[in-house]
Amino acid sequence: MSTVVPPLEIESSSELCSDFCIVGGGMVGAALAIALARQGRQVVLREKQAPAFKSGTLGMGIRTVALSPASEAWLAGLDIRISGALIHRMHVFEALGTAVLDFDADEAGTAHLGAIVENDRLVDELWRQLSQYPNLTVQLDASLERIEHTAEAVLLHGTGDVVRTRLCIAADGAASTVRRLTGTEPQRFDTGQWALATVVRTEKPHEGCAYQRFLEDGPVALLPGIEPDLVAVVWSQPPDQAHRRQALAHGAFCDELSRATASVLGAVKAVDQRLTFPLVQQISAPLLPAPRVVLTGDAARVVHPLAGMGVNLGFEDAALLADLCRASADPGEDQGLQSYARKRLWRSRALVTLMSTLQGIYGWRQPGPVWLRNAGVRFVNRQSLVRHQLLREALGLGPVAVASH
Ligand SMILES: Cc1cc2nc3c(=O)[nH]c(=O)nc-3n(C[C@H](O)[C@H](O)[C@H](O)COP(=O)(O)OP(=O)(O)OC[C@H]3O[C@@H](n4cnc5c(N)ncnc54)[C@H](O)[C@@H]3O)c2cc1C
Repeated sequence: MSTVVPPLEIESSSELCSDFCIVGGGMVGAALAIALARQGRQVVLREKQAPAFKSGTLGMGIRTVALSPASEAWLAGLDIRISGALIHRMHVFEALGTAVLDFDADEAGTAHLGAIVENDRLVDELWRQLSQYPNLTVQLDASLERIEHTAEAVLLHGTGDVVRTRLCIAADGAASTVRRLTGTEPQRFDTGQWALATVVRTEKPHEGCAYQRFLEDGPVALLPGIEPDLVAVVWSQPPDQAHRRQALAHGAFCDELSRATASVLGAVKAVDQRLTFPLVQQISAPLLPAPRVVLTGDAARVVHPLAGMGVNLGFEDAALLADLCRASADPGEDQGLQSYARKRLWRSRALVTLMSTLQGIYGWRQPGPVWLRNAGVRFVNRQSLVRHQLLREALGLGPVAVASH
């Protein structure tokens, strides 16, 4: 520790004191709570509702994330090992042309390109681990009404309870209450799309390949599931189409998905419940919206799921923040927070811009631009060095990604 600061003192019986108070126990908040507790710090984690594991009718949770090798490594360093479906290859193709992009783990120099993990299973595993740390207090059904600042602490007022902490970390998702209470409005970019997420059973096995096909009105991804013929689907599309496809009879939906994916895995034979989500990209700035308050995960930014980056960016935030706070006596005062805010805002802006650009380029429908796009994709696919660099960046292992966390 750099300097000695007096411990925070409880001022009323309804108060709890801590070095860190994390608001939101989703994937990012729960993992960060473990990372900080392992440093021996006093941590409070406030969550508004207890997580409940939901497996779909086909035996796999509907909401999934693609964990990058960098995220997997960080979680493994916290002794969190998640079993998911490994991605060994990726095949990107489109409806309006013949150019394809192929990536595999060998060229990235990694054992695999990532793992498809059920959100609920990951949260479940993280929550199982939370109870192992006596210096970590979990508060369930926690509300947040008001944030008050003093010179040496920030006070989080719920209904009938208060947490006095050195640093409040918002990990409470895209509609962050912490952010709202600091008076910060994120900058929003409407993508004009909704995502339809589900799980399907396919005729052919996925063999660890993730497919992404760009259709005229948005990309559809088929991601390896936990059984050889189970596949997670994330289909980005205009809202009217998403609602129409959500309401289709099972057989009609399976036929439409088979056509949309050019039957790359044969016929789609069965489908689970279909969930839809509006796709809005957003950036919250500043990432330190008030003294001793910092934003992480989806509270800091939301990116289009087309590159499967969302929670990986959240884990990058968590890893950097945990590292910066490791040696500071008063984490709320640390100069390192400025560096966190600078690096992570830069990374958020870069990825939101990249996702908008990709969405724009794949939205071209006129013959000239379509030809240009196909020529560009073919060129990239032939350049092994360019492909290698793109892949390493997407996996969170390239120099640009590493410099931002
Ligand atoms: C269709 C779709 C597909 C996606 N696919 C991928 C993918 O393949 N790869 C990827 O990396 N990302 C993907 N994402 C994004 C990913 O799901 C998010 O980035 C991730 O869930 C963010 O995690 P988080 O912990 O920051 O927030 P959340 O998961 O939103 O968790 C926030 C937590 O805070 C709690 N909370 C909220 N308010 C309060 C409060 N006031 N007090 C206490 N607790 C509170 C909530 O109950 C919740 O538990 C996808 C998103 C969508 C919509």
